[in-house]
This record gives sequence, structure tokens and C-alpha cells, in this order.
Amino acid sequence: MARSYDLRRDLSICADCIREFTDVDDRRHRFPFIQCGDCGPSFALGPTKEEPSCQACLAEFRNSTGRRFGFSKIACPDCGPVLRLVSHAGLAEGETALTRAASLLHEGGIVVVKATAGFHLAVDACNEEAVRRLRTRKQRPHKPFAVMARDLEWVERVAYLGAEERALLLGPERPILLLPRRGEALAPSVAPGLSDLGLFLPSSALQLLLMEAGPPLQVMTSANLSGAPTARDDDEALRILQQVGDALLHFNRPIENHADDSVFRASARGAIPIRRSRALVPRAILLPFEAPPLLAVGGQEKNTVCVAEGRRAFLSQHIGDLEGEAAWARFVEDIERLKEFAGIEPAAVAHDLHPDYRSTRYALECGLPRVAVQHHHAHAAALLAEHGWRSDEPAMAVVFDGTGLGDDQGLWGGEFLLANFDGYQRLGHLRPLALPGGSAAIRNPWRLALAALIDAELPPEAFFPESSRSASILAERLRRGDDFPRSSGAGRWFDAASALLGVRLQVSYDGQAPAELESIASKDPVDPYPFDLRFDQIFQIDLRPTVRALAADLSEGGSPALLAARFHETMARAIETGCLHLRASSGASAVALGGGCFQNRLLLERATARLEAIGLRVLSAREVPQNDGGLSLGQAAIAARRLAREIAASSKR
Ligand code: ZN
Ligand code: ZN
Ligand code: FE
Repeated sequence: MARSYDLRRDLSICADCIREFTDVDDRRHRFPFIQCGDCGPSFALGPTKEEPSCQACLAEFRNSTGRRFGFSKIACPDCGPVLRLVSHAGLAEGETALTRAASLLHEGGIVVVKATAGFHLAVDACNEEAVRRLRTRKQRPHKPFAVMARDLEWVERVAYLGAEERALLLGPERPILLLPRRGEALAPSVAPGLSDLGLFLPSSALQLLLMEAGPPLQVMTSANLSGAPTARDDDEALRILQQVGDALLHFNRPIENHADDSVFRASARGAIPIRRSRALVPRAILLPFEAPPLLAVGGQEKNTVCVAEGRRAFLSQHIGDLEGEAAWARFVEDIERLKEFAGIEPAAVAHDLHPDYRSTRYALECGLPRVAVQHHHAHAAALLAEHGWRSDEPAMAVVFDGTGLGDDQGLWGGEFLLANFDGYQRLGHLRPLALPGGSAAIRNPWRLALAALIDAELPPEAFFPESSRSASILAERLRRGDDFPRSSGAGRWFDAASALLGVRLQVSYDGQAPAELESIASKDPVDPYPFDLRFDQIFQIDLRPTVRALAADLSEGGSPALLAARFHETMARAIETGCLHLRASSGASAVALGGGCFQNRLLLERATARLEAIGLRVLSAREVPQNDGGLSLGQAAIAARRLAREIAASSKR
């Protein structure tokens, strides 16, 4: 009895298994690897076909009325994996391994823990010293850690949540959910500078045991070596143990398919998908039309790939930043695994326009016919695909992200498009901002603040009083009009605003400056700042008046919370203004909000409210992230239509 694609997901332990697990008379009482045909890891374990080795399990395997009939991942204390702890105190097994791991955690130790589809680093989330030690050893100064809570009650002690959030946390996917924080119970270093906390509940019996015996709130962050993807093999985990951990809690069952935890963010408009991975893959996404067999290779960061054929598109798990060699190897491997899993042999490959993305280079070298897709068109198409857009009419699309390559070789990222799967028209964009120092500007938002001030003809000295030599040299070069790259990326404007308000001048992870700006923003209704709308061939939202007003408020000692809120409101208003123009020139009534900036809850909520108030239907991400993690789906949908047209044209000839 083959499990359908949908049931191949790595779902959390089911109610029936919990019942056995807690029953003192059951042979799987407290067995860390209990699962059945309705639950537990499946995709992670790969296709296992052998019959179970022990008699009791074999009987269940053959019992046509039971939950484990034909279930090849059957395991019990007699035949299943064994829990082991490696630490300075030597090797421990079974219950001893568990109790030792738990007491290490209580003492502030860092434990590498094997999970369903990868490894975590666990530490007591209420122990500031321990969390700091983890940050130092992992060389991860600020990027937030997710926290696993023993149960819903413990989640509620540290975060605010409603009925919808509760259901999502308890659902069989058990994703990480970013929730507004409450109280001071957690160590400050868990998520410094952020108003949200990433929380999730145990999804396996092993995690239930560890959360019960160990601290009730534990940092559970992906275990990886700096720059590499999350560890999948025991030897990778051992190296992490040497560099970061105090102990390794693992078991003898290999992980075939890795998957990081899936992440959503709570919002008044429904949960925002941030990362679609464990338990959501390999669920197929239904395309609104038929696709020839094809592969789409995604972007450079937050990479995922997609294979599609017919109406079905299979989006891979999160692969991540393709820069490092380990991630690159995994990218190549995951493509092969996904093709095999889906039974699809691609006849074409879709890729980004950017020639330097490693995914693009893969596409260029793989020998298949190629379809190049513009970055922001792909963002828009991913949303249209997710919402089953069937019309040939274009929808409006506002795509706000960091940077992507435009079809004019420019750096785009604050785009107003009319788009469907067949094409797009760029009707407007945000005013481009100079990136002084290129990639250095992205790591140093203060450089963008400087660029924005000089662009608005304001003296930067007022905002950078003890400005360093490099700042004054840079200011001089900007004034001279030196040839820095320019980007219309909305993310860069958020970076500039964050630095201007003194919230974040330098970043250690992607999206840090906007996230901290959003975190301090007042949630009360505020007025937007002014901006201009200029027309050339297409329209430009000119944010110089915004910068001037913000700078004036700042020098009058305005509260950063209020100013941050007003900046968000300005961007929401700019989106509304742009959409009014898109509607006037197209008659379209639906608008897709794509790009990583819409992970910003405040921006998404305010923009949506404004757009709905002018009678537009807003399409925002529900399951597929609107960040670069969704690009491959958009690429696949666009390529499918382009190939279908080519096939039709050649058959007419
Ligand atoms: Zn079960
Ligand atoms: Zn057995
Ligand atoms: Fe993007």
C-alpha cells in the first residue's frame, strides 16, 4: 500500500501513538521512535521497503485492520533505533542517555539533538549565560533562535496567541510560529532587538521526552557549521559537537531527506509563510494549468527548487544560501532526489536572469533547454500560482524585496507590475537608492542612510555627529555623484530608515535592520509622511520628501516608535498610490503582494487594509513564502506557459 505524496510528509506524532506512548502496559511505552502509518517521519526516512525484523512488528505489518499495516517504518524497543548520548562523561544509552541530556540542559549545557530531518542545538532558553555561550560558539551574534516549548501553556507564558495560532502550533506540521512576545521569562539573547519570538511544540516522541525531562523552554536552533546547511549525517553532527556542543543525543537511523523546520509568522491577515520545509514538503502544489516536465532552480539565497509536470508542482525543502560548498552539494543532490521522488524527468530548466546566481550557472550547464525568468515576475507568478489564478488577464503585483536583476540590467526591488504567467509590464517603481560600497552597503545600513540623506540634499553631519573618516569620504563621493550601483529595492529603503533612526547601523543577518525597525514601531494608527509621484516613461515613487520629513521629526526629538510607525505607514500609502495607477491603466482588481518585505507584519497589514479599502482583492502568501523561497514555483509556472506556447507554435508550423 503506497503512501500518497501527501502522506509522505514528516507529520508530528498522532493521537493514537501518544496513547500507546503514555500507556505503561504498551510495548512502546516511552519509546522515543514510536510512529504509525498516520504520523511520524516519512520523507526524512526515504523509501524503505523491507519488512520489519522483529516478530511483533511483523504481525502489525501484516494486520490489515491496524494502523501499521504495510507500514515499512515500523519500529519498537526490540527492533528499532537506540537512543545514545555522547559526552565527556562517555557513552550512555536509552533512558540514561535521556536523563543525562536533560540534566546537562538544566545545568546550561549545549546539546546537539538529532531530530526527524536534521539536527538541532538545544539549550535552556531561560538561561542567559547558556544562550550567550551558544551565540559565541556558533558565531551568531544576533540572528534570533527558535524556542521549543513543552506545551501550549508554556507558549502562552512567553507569547500572545489567539485561536488560529493555537491551531497552527498544534497542527500535524508543528511549524515554528513567530508570535508577539510577552513577559521577560526568556533570556534576552534569544531574539535580541525583536518583538517577536519563534515558538514551536514537540513533534516527535523523542522531543516530548526531552521537553518533559529537560527545561520547559529550550532554544532549538538548526545545527550547522558556519555557512553550511543544517547537519544531516552523524559525522557532521560530531563535528558540530566538537565546535559548539557539550553532548550529542542521537540514534542509529539515517536521515535520507533533510528538512529545516517550517516557519510561519502570525498576523491579523492569517499566518505569513516564511519557510516552507519540514512537514509541508513534499506536498504537491496544484498549478492552474498543465505543465510539461520541467525543473526550476530558484534564486541564490533561501533557495528552493521545483519540479513540475501536469498540474502538479513539487517545491523542495529549504536549501538555503548556495554560496558555500556544502549548500551547493546539497542543492545538486536535492534536485536529483526531488526528480526521483516525483517521478519527473525534466525536459527544460527555468532560472533567474542573474548570471552570477549559482542556480543560474547550474541551469546554464545542465544541458536542458532553458527559460530565463525575471526575478520579480517570478515573485508575482508564485503568488498567482498559489492562488490558482486562471485568468489570462493580468493582475497587479507589488513586489518589494532586497534586490533582484531587472530586464534592463538594473537592480530592482520596489516594483509595481502588471503580470500574469505569460508576461509582465513594469509600470512603476520606488526611487532607486545608491548603494555606496555595493555589498558593504547591504551589511552597513548606515551607508544607505547616508545615501538617502545626500539624495534628499540634507547634511548628513547632523545624523552622524562623530562621523568616521569613511563616512565623510563616502558622503563626499555621494555628493560628487560617484558611480555607485543603484537599487530600487524597498528593503534598502527600510535599511536606510532603520539606520537613520539609530535602530540598526550594521547587520549580522539578512533583514535585521527592517525587522528591528518594525519591532520598535508603535502599533497605534499614525499618519504617513509625504512622498512625490513622478512620471517619466513609467512612474517613480520619490521618497525624498519622506526622508526630509523623517529627518525633521528626528531632529525635533520625535519618538523612534512613532517615526518608525510613520515610515511603515508611508510605504503602505506608497503601495496604495502605485496600485491606484496600476488599476487606472489596466482595470485590474486583484493585487499580489510579493517579495520578502511582506514578511513585515506591520507593512503587510497596513498595505492590505489600504488596498481593501479602495476595493482591491489582495493576494498574499498563504503557504509558499513570498520571499526568494518561493521563486522556483513562480519560475516553473512562467516556464510552463512559455514552453506550451512554443510547442503550440512549432506544431502549427
Ligand atoms: Zn501515529
Ligand atoms: Zn519491532
Ligand atoms: Fe527577491
